[in-house]
Amino acid sequence: MKIESKLAQIGNRQDPGTGAVSAPIYHSTTYAHPALGQSTGFDYTRTLNPTRKILEDAIADLEGGVRGFAFSSGMAAVHAVFSLFSPGDHVIVSSDLYGGTYRVLEHIFRPLGIEATYVHTGHLEEVEAAARDTTRALFIETPTNPTMQITDIAAASLFARRRGWLTIVDNTFMTPYFQRPIELGADIVVHSATKFLGGHNDVLAGLVVAKSDEIAERLYFVQNSIGAVLGPQDAWLLMRGMKTLAIRMERCAMNASAIAAWLDARDDIVKVYYPGLDTHPGKSICSKQASGFGGMVSFEVLDARMVPFILEHLKLVTFAESLGGVETLITYPSRQTHADIPEEIREKVGVTDRLLRLSVGIEHIGDLIDDLSQALDHAAEQVLSRRR
Ligand SMILES: *Cc1c(COP(=O)(O)O)cnc(C)c1O
Repeated sequence: MKIESKLAQIGNRQDPGTGAVSAPIYHSTTYAHPALGQSTGFDYTRTLNPTRKILEDAIADLEGGVRGFAFSSGMAAVHAVFSLFSPGDHVIVSSDLYGGTYRVLEHIFRPLGIEATYVHTGHLEEVEAAARDTTRALFIETPTNPTMQITDIAAASLFARRRGWLTIVDNTFMTPYFQRPIELGADIVVHSATKFLGGHNDVLAGLVVAKSDEIAERLYFVQNSIGAVLGPQDAWLLMRGMKTLAIRMERCAMNASAIAAWLDARDDIVKVYYPGLDTHPGKSICSKQASGFGGMVSFEVLDARMVPFILEHLKLVTFAESLGGVETLITYPSRQTHADIPEEIREKVGVTDRLLRLSVGIEHIGDLIDDLSQALDHAAEQVLSRRR
């Protein structure tokens, strides 16, 4: 079955007793045992919940893995994945990284003896140089957040497998609709489902998918032991959002591509980061491993003083953290999502105080461009004393 059909059908035919088309929400925290030593398969909700299981089965199927796990947030999912490692272990991680992942690695895992080195994971010579005897995994974001660096997932996974490392991909930006890392060789996929999967800025959730039974067993142990599971109401809300993922991703990518080209043509924009632009160094690899370029566009304005004028003047586009919803949002990464990353690391990957990031929604493209146009014109006029 094609992915559009799988998505639309999430939750259907899961409750034969009633024929419910929308997955039922099981709030019960405990489940009666038919007799001593017997179980319906459900005992206690942290261990397994019927609503959460429908979601977990769905994401495993969508990503092409053996088992899925739903967590209370993307960070809980990332935390669960790094909990697979032990003191003394080392991981190599994409340097242009979601700020929260950097924070959990540096401030939770490093003090516990699990160290990370940050490199451009698309440059395998950098990965090679960072390798240690204790290296256990390669953790990749592609495209990265916010400068859209691309890593060849198949090449990186092969490189890691030959050394006995796990390959973990944060697939939040692309979703399984555009990119399926397990099919390309990755061992684990992690998501902030708060973003494109949920798609409506109304549910916080994280998902993990394992490629093999062995990894799935270990992840299940971590999930049940730590207990940061997704509640049944949120699991249902996430599935409701995921049903329309295909049409949302198509529209977000179409709008993002038009906005990237439009921004690229302006002389008050120094640089546009979008993997679908011909000038993007990762375009050919991204086209090879993904069926779309996604809905995220970052851009650098000529002068940092333009930023407050742009943010205050937008009327349709909302100045807010987060991404992946139907509503277009604009973020100022150096002050918001990436504020926890030291300035020298930020500047090196391009997260300067001139960089803004758009999460492009599904509004009419004409309205989005009109809004961006009036805000940028206003900022240019105020700061660069330009009249248009
Ligand atoms: C948001 C995000 C996370 C963290 O997810 P939460 O749901 O906010 O906890 C992790 N990785 C990426 C790429 C993200 O965008």
